[in-house]
This record gives sequence, structure tokens and C-alpha cells, in this order.
Amino acid sequence: MNTNDVHRLSISGVTVAHGAEVVVKRATLTVRAGEMVALVGPSGSGKSTLLGAIAGFYPVQAGAIWVGEELVASPTLSLPPERRRIGVVFQSHALWPQWMVVDNVAYPLRRRGMARPAARREAEMMLAAIGMDAFAARYPSELSGGQRQRVGLARALAARPDLYLFDEPTASLDPANREAFMQEVRERIRTTQAGALYVSHQADEALSLAHRVAVMMQGEILQVGAPAEVYECPRTAEIARLLGPAACATGVVHAVDARGWARVQIADSEQTIRLSSLHREVDHGRVSLMMRPEWCELTDDEASLPCRVVRVQYVGHRTLYELESLAGRLLASHTGPPQYQEGERVGWKVRRASVLER
Ligand code: ADP
Ligand code: MG
Repeated sequence: MNTNDVHRLSISGVTVAHGAEVVVKRATLTVRAGEMVALVGPSGSGKSTLLGAIAGFYPVQAGAIWVGEELVASPTLSLPPERRRIGVVFQSHALWPQWMVVDNVAYPLRRRGMARPAARREAEMMLAAIGMDAFAARYPSELSGGQRQRVGLARALAARPDLYLFDEPTASLDPANREAFMQEVRERIRTTQAGALYVSHQADEALSLAHRVAVMMQGEILQVGAPAEVYECPRTAEIARLLGPAACATGVVHAVDARGWARVQIADSEQTIRLSSLHREVDHGRVSLMMRPEWCELTDDEASLPCRVVRVQYVGHRTLYELESLAGRLLASHTGPPQYQEGERVGWKVRRASVLER
């Protein structure tokens, strides 16, 4: 069997409540062997609760969770966390305070029966991989919060589980360590063919790291897809904005050719746009369009839509413009430093757009 077809995690119709509040609603998701799935969503959308239910910290009200082939949770069954073959790296780590760092990391190996010298050697390797080898002989109380977090990661990696759950593990790491941490995680997933479900609060991290992205809002998983698919063809405006800057406007489609090029009227300007849509053919008539700033340009062209620049944001590699127009708030960007100023009148053109569901 192709390992792509092996599921490390399957959740089906899972509902989780905290008291009377239903926080996760009928969530369905799979993580395949060797796959990293990023779970993204606004704060309070239920991401940590879903991870907690998978890890075995919360019971499920409906649905089922399998780790590999094994049913671990349903309304009538709940395996304890330690029997779920899951490596958990959450924001707060419970390290054993009376043990040195190296022994904390070696613990899961010792528990599997590895001799102490071998377990320590492996633990030291894990610590070196995340830049923590100099801290092996310290105690947890002698570490910063970020350092403790990295020790928690090293311990989860050392356990070699079938599935990793990460809940914003890089939140307290500086950018250089974040990169090393992520590299290590990705390499582990690839070589061990484990799976990982990764909650990230940073859209760019999720998009660049994950094989697939799952978007959660108000307890529901609303869209799952490859990073480019979710970024370029989000189902809704909320999903679009969660993953990066996006402008939305109403357009009227007059004509579409076989290759997806369309004549679209936006306010009083008719533009030729490459239209994409997640599931359906683009029909003539009124549609909701989502446009990334990098799909739009500022120009003096006659066919452009007149705008006024209301905000200029220079971020080093590109300049982002916020614009006011008859079609509402629009965006555009180009590489390099600003070429237009706030208050200036310019024309706006869009080369491509994605049709939203609503
Ligand atoms: P996220 O991780 O996406 O920010 P959470 O899963 O932490 O979201 O929270 C989702 C909702 O559940 C929030 O309304 C939060 O207040 C509530 N909640 C989270 N954990 C608990 C808990 N242990 N007890 C009661 N309510 C909780
Ligand atoms: Mg959370």
C-alpha cells in the first residue's frame, strides 16, 4: 500500500463541548502518513479544544477519532492520553522539575525500554537539533519559557509517535530558532512517516510549512486544501482575510472563454480577468470576487478603475496600497519601494480574481 493512503489520524463528525458550550462542531479531517496539516483559525475558534480532544484531554460528544487504525475516542469510548501514541507539543509544557533537561527528553525512550546511555545519546541528538545541547545538564527552572518549549519539542520528537499535535509551538521562539524548529519537525515527519496536526497563528508559517491547510471558524472546519488552493480559492471572504490581505468586490461577469479569462464589470470599469473558482464553472452574472493585492496593479491605463490611495505600506520587498473606489476598498501591490503617495489619484487594474461562495 502506498503510504499516502495510510491515515495517521482520522476524525469524523467530532463534536466537543466545554460545559454547555459546544466548541467544536462535527469536525471531519484526516492526516496521512508523512503529512503535515496546519489548523488555522481566529482565536477562540476551537483549535486547541479539537487538539485536546485528539490528545485525550476532553471527551467527544459525537463522532469518532482514530489514531492510525485504532479507535481512540467516541461518545462511549475514551482511551487515556498515554495510550494514544501521540506526541503532544502544546504552549505550556509540563517538564519534570527534578530532572535535568537531558533526562526529561530521554524519558519516553527509557519508558520504551531503551538503556540509559543510549537514551541519553539520542536525547542529546534531539537537543542539538534544536540548538539546546548546551542546556542538557540544566534543570527546567533554569530555563526561559522559550527554552522550556524547545525541550518539550525535543521530548515529543524523541518519543517517535505516529502522530504529532502542535499547538502554536513556535509562539515564544525567536525567528532564527523558529526556522530550525520547523525544519526539524518537517524532516522528522518525512523520515518517520508520522503525521502532524499543527496549529499556527501565523498564516505565512502555515502556508509555507503544511502539505494541507484546514481552516476552522466558530468550531467548524470550513475548508481543507493545499496551501495554494486555500490561499487562492478561499470559500469565503473571512477565510481569504485569515490567510493574507484580500479585497472583495462585486463584479458582473459578461463573458468567459474556455481558458477562464472573463470580461468582468467592476463598478464602472470593464476588466479582463483570469477567474478561478473552487468547485464550479463561472457563470455569467453577479459574483463576489476575492482579489489578492499581488493580482492587482496601479496604472494610468484608460480601462482602469479610478481610485484614491488611502494607505501606503512599505514592507521591504514590496509596497502594499489600500485604495478607495466606487467598488469599495481595494488593494494593490508591487515589488520595491512606493511609487504613489497617500491622497494620489490612480487607476486600478486586476489581472486575476477568485469567485467566492457568498
Ligand atoms: P482556539 O485555540 O482556537 O483559540 P479554544 O479551543 O481555546 O480556541 O477555545 C474555544 C472556546 O472554548 C472559547 O470560547 C474558549 O473560551 C472555550 N474554552 C476553551 N477551553 C476551555 C475550558 N477548558 N473550559 C471551558 N471553556 C473553554
Ligand atoms: Mg488555542
